[in-house]
Amino acid sequence: MDCLFCKIIAGEIPSAKVYEDDLVFAFRDIDPKAPTHILIIPKKHIASVNEINDENCAIVGHIFKVAAEIAKNEGVAEDGYRIVTNIGENGGQTVKHLHYHMLGGRSLQWPPG
Ligand code: AMP
Ligand code: ZN
Repeated sequence: MDCLFCKIIAGEIPSAKVYEDDLVFAFRDIDPKAPTHILIIPKKHIASVNEINDENCAIVGHIFKVAAEIAKNEGVAEDGYRIVTNIGENGGQTVKHLHYHMLGGRSLQWPPG
């Protein structure tokens, strides 16, 4: 499948990995929008939240468990951070493989643009 993030998981495209297990891969965003900007993705290709269903929804809980661990390791857990997933055109999704942005290390604005 011609998917950038599947290629990153397969090691065909290099990335700055911060975490990996059987189900999940996490790496630094190439164009960081905050001092800590990490992408957490399922290894199994899921296009977006729109594709989450009874069969694959357990990965979402696992991703958030991993996120809690990464936040501690990055030193952002205490001060706070944001996890966001963009969906479709209005959501600003550019890569069609489910990913959660972890943004931290600075005060973030709300509401987002
Ligand atoms: P989104 O716009 O929500 O689909 O997020 C896609 C993210 O992937 C953007 O923040 C990009 O900067 C990031 N990105 C694109 N290509 C790469 C890459 N090769 N390595 C790491 N991050 C990337
Ligand atoms: Zn993919």
